[in-house]
Amino acid sequence: MSVCNTTGLSLEQQERWPYLYRHLIEDIEVPDLSSIELTHIETLDNELSDLIKKIGDAKATSRESLTKHLKGLLFRRFGKNAVVEAFGSTVTNLSIGTGDLDLCLSFKGKQPAKVLKKLSGLLHEEGMENIQSIPKARIPIVKFKDPRSGLDVDISLDNRLAIHNSEMLKSYAQEGRLQRLVQMVKYWASRRGINNAFEGTLSSYAWTLLSIQHAQLVQPPLAPNRQKGAKSNQVSIKGVTYDIGFNNERYPTENNQSLASLLISFFERFATRWDWENMVVSIRNGEALTTKAKKWQHTGPLPLEVVTGADDGRMEHVMPIEDPFNHEHDLSRVVRAEGAMSIQNEFMRIIELLSEGTTWKEICEPVMELEEEPNDLFHDLRSTPANEIAQRLEELRANLEVVETQIRELVEERQNSNELLDLLRGGMREARNVRSDRQQILSELRPLSMKVQEMREVRDGINQRIAIPTNRIKQEMMRIFEKLTAEVDIFNAPNLGVERGDFAYFFELQAMYEASLKSNEAHQEFIRLRREQNQEYRALKKTKKREEDVLTRLVESNPALEGIHPNPKSVKEFQKNAKLLQRSINEQYSTKHELRREIGRLEAWQRISKRKQRDSDGNRHRTQRNQRSRRPRAPEVNINEVRQKASSGDSISLNELDALLSKGGIASIGSSDRQKQQQKQRQSKKRSSRKIDIRQGRTRGRKESRK
Ligand code: ATP
Ligand code: MG
Repeated sequence: MSVCNTTGLSLEQQERWPYLYRHLIEDIEVPDLSSIELTHIETLDNELSDLIKKIGDAKATSRESLTKHLKGLLFRRFGKNAVVEAFGSTVTNLSIGTGDLDLCLSFKGKQPAKVLKKLSGLLHEEGMENIQSIPKARIPIVKFKDPRSGLDVDISLDNRLAIHNSEMLKSYAQEGRLQRLVQMVKYWASRRGINNAFEGTLSSYAWTLLSIQHAQLVQPPLAPNRQKGAKSNQVSIKGVTYDIGFNNERYPTENNQSLASLLISFFERFATRWDWENMVVSIRNGEALTTKAKKWQHTGPLPLEVVTGADDGRMEHVMPIEDPFNHEHDLSRVVRAEGAMSIQNEFMRIIELLSEGTTWKEICEPVMELEEEPNDLFHDLRSTPANEIAQRLEELRANLEVVETQIRELVEERQNSNELLDLLRGGMREARNVRSDRQQILSELRPLSMKVQEMREVRDGINQRIAIPTNRIKQEMMRIFEKLTAEVDIFNAPNLGVERGDFAYFFELQAMYEASLKSNEAHQEFIRLRREQNQEYRALKKTKKREEDVLTRLVESNPALEGIHPNPKSVKEFQKNAKLLQRSINEQYSTKHELRREIGRLEAWQRISKRKQRDSDGNRHRTQRNQRSRRPRAPEVNINEVRQKASSGDSISLNELDALLSKGGIASIGSSDRQKQQQKQRQSKKRSSRKIDIRQGRTRGRKESRK
């Protein structure tokens, strides 16, 4: 692979960002858009008007129905404390039809635990697709796709500030040209793949703020600074106070530039003149702030250094854009190096193409093949033989049965697993109590044993010295005492030496007696302590038995717990298993919904084919016998009600689906209003053509009469 010596970009990267690459290696002058011919601006303006009419908001009805459906769903799951509010382009009037549906879920009281997990489970059961839960984000969010309407939905938790800033954007969008400017910038960015914050480029919201800043800076201004001088309105969100006040009055602009010139100057400003290094986009200031004043100087490597691997540091403030309410929030925080390169490449591209007079259609040529919804729901079935469809249906039904059985089994397994987990937790609690009892006994036993030992030593120490039993000592003491205190026979009196010896012996006996008494006491204490000790030992044994009982009872209550100890490790293993089970259940639910949809589609096609066959048979029959023989008709259906049901995701019968398909199919759901209007127009045309006929008739009549 050849790597460019100047830029370090690989061949693949050079091909990915060709416009930027050329500007990096060649000293090309950026074209001057102020010299674009007036006729070209007019042509572009006409093209933009046509496009805006065309894109409208084709999904407005689907969005409304889906919002209603999701509100009902969340109400049933979380109760009346759950509040669901729409924000983003659904309410700002800045939609380009392809945008997502942004919903905010908050709770009047306490937020239920693990709410995102519950929400994801619910959405899986509903058959939603590509469910992604991001609980650790600044604003926790669940993203998914509703397969029925094809809408991408974001449900964020307690995203209060977004609701407030949406209101302000709506206020800015009162100015029709600004509204259309935002729509065209978003249209260009989305088709060129650079408005996806989750993929490292700028969000639609950020592009909207750039457009507003441009409208504030053009001369004369197209938009005011709605926050300047506005009445303060302080709100506290998660402990932080924000001023969300803004002026909502209509702004009488003196600017009369066309949308095309506003769009051209928008790109000229941000692609060529804006000093991203030193300027911060700030609509609450009405003009740029300096990165220095804001302390938002670009730090870390440049995007080029990151993509070429020259530096793997973290980039900060790569395209600084200040949130109008949360002034600490830089909307370019999400921009990754590759995203920044793509944005710069697109800026270079659009400047070149605009200067060459390229059409908006070509400028906005999608970078990726956009997923076009086929107009014809049965496009792939038209050339498939009926028996093949029948066989496919049979297979799908069999698969559905298997999947449904699997779901039942998995749900049962999850239930069992949860029950076991509860038992295990209960067992753990009991075992913990037993263990703490044992600890208590052991802590009492330790000093007791020491005392026993002490008493034993006292007793044995004395006994070693005095081998004579206490009674014998006492008797001897009495004998000597009597001898010493007997009346003295003066003829036979002991001599002094003998008497002294007796006294000494008596005192020794007395000391021996005291020691012997002490030994006896120690012995008694020793006996008492031993008894106490034995009691404690018995209690200890009992706790062991109790622990065994806990385990036995646990296993008896559910044999599946055999060999499993009620400890945190086992609980953790069970929890992990429960998570895996839930994931499998969710996957099976998605498969089930897909299978059901496909079965419904094939069945509907079979009905339609049969009816066609019946009709053509009937026609043949009629021409042969000039007679009508009809099978009983399916009940009449109200097509508008069916459309309503289908777009809100309610189930519809085959008969209703059939009717829906014969009236334009799924693609017609979003356009029922348009159809009504077209019908009205057709009727009025009919009426007016009738008028012409009448006039013509008169004219003809008069002419004829003149003749
Ligand atoms: P689209 O029509 O493409 O869906 P949108 O106007 O709805 O565009 P989003 O980017 O979907 O714009 O954002 C919806 C709303 O969420 C914005 O109006 C804004 O209130 C809020 N929002 C989006 N991104 C941010 C962000 N990074 N910080 C703060 N609020 C944001
Ligand atoms: Mg949106």
